[in-house]
Amino acid sequence: MSRPDLTPLLDEIAVEARKSIGRGKVADYIPALARISPGKFGMAICGVDGTEFVTGDADEAFSIQSLSKVFTLVLALQTIGSAPLWKRVGREPSGTAFNSLVQLESERGLPRNPFINAGAIVVTDAITAHSVSPTLQLLGLVRRFAGTDAIYIDEEVARSEAEHGHRNAAIAHLLKSQGNLKARVEDVLAAYYRQCAVAMSCRDMARAFLPLANGGVQPKTGEKLMVPLRAKRINSLMLTCGLYDGVGNFAFRVGIPAKSGVGGGIAAVIPGKYAICVWSPELDGLGNSLAGTRALELFARKTKLSIF
Ligand code: GLN
Repeated sequence: MSRPDLTPLLDEIAVEARKSIGRGKVADYIPALARISPGKFGMAICGVDGTEFVTGDADEAFSIQSLSKVFTLVLALQTIGSAPLWKRVGREPSGTAFNSLVQLESERGLPRNPFINAGAIVVTDAITAHSVSPTLQLLGLVRRFAGTDAIYIDEEVARSEAEHGHRNAAIAHLLKSQGNLKARVEDVLAAYYRQCAVAMSCRDMARAFLPLANGGVQPKTGEKLMVPLRAKRINSLMLTCGLYDGVGNFAFRVGIPAKSGVGGGIAAVIPGKYAICVWSPELDGLGNSLAGTRALELFARKTKLSIF
């Protein structure tokens, strides 16, 4: 069977999606991120059949920020196991901002899901409490998933976030006071900031997400990275919690499980077919890439590849 060449489609989507640039705002609460050129746009798509298509700045490394939360979840599930982790983090959409503290106080330290900051900090704690070098372990996992060593930690971004990370520090201290943090607050936060500061390209991110589209197996190497049930569950969580308070609108417009980050990346999974990563640094008011969302909406519409 001939494989469709998606390059012309991606180029067409890039032209259209770029029209949103200028209407959003690059994240500036982490000063090192505010320096990124707002005009960047890259998109990569990897097929379970080994095909790969890119457009724009798809080979330029960007700050993955909350996309890391998918990989830390995989690592924590591997580290402490499914049942113990789900006792400490929920699986429901939060309906609040990614860095909100309100719910955490009223729900007694049980974060709604692993993809908001509070949940991710608990997930990072599960790794940190069992590892002398949680960040290196995470970096190793991401490299293995993507099949390349060209993935690094941008220490300047990590430092910048640590200097301005008052909300995350507040979340971590609240979790500690509520008995849902085992390691030292300082150690968990250091690991959290460094995992958010992982830098990699759209192409490598799409490759790293490909096992989620392929029942846990990296089609490029045949390596089994997780059981099919885990891949299915992570995709389900992305569908309901991957874009914070914007997840409902994203499902309405796009209809594909995805995870976003304030670096402007969105990675998406079409089970059985493709993994996609798009990067455009300007964000909407909820912290999701504006042009990135538009690009995925256009992709789903033009290919009819939404999961619905
Ligand atoms: N490092 C960011 C933070 O903790 C990650 C948030 C995000 O990408 N939504 O605020």
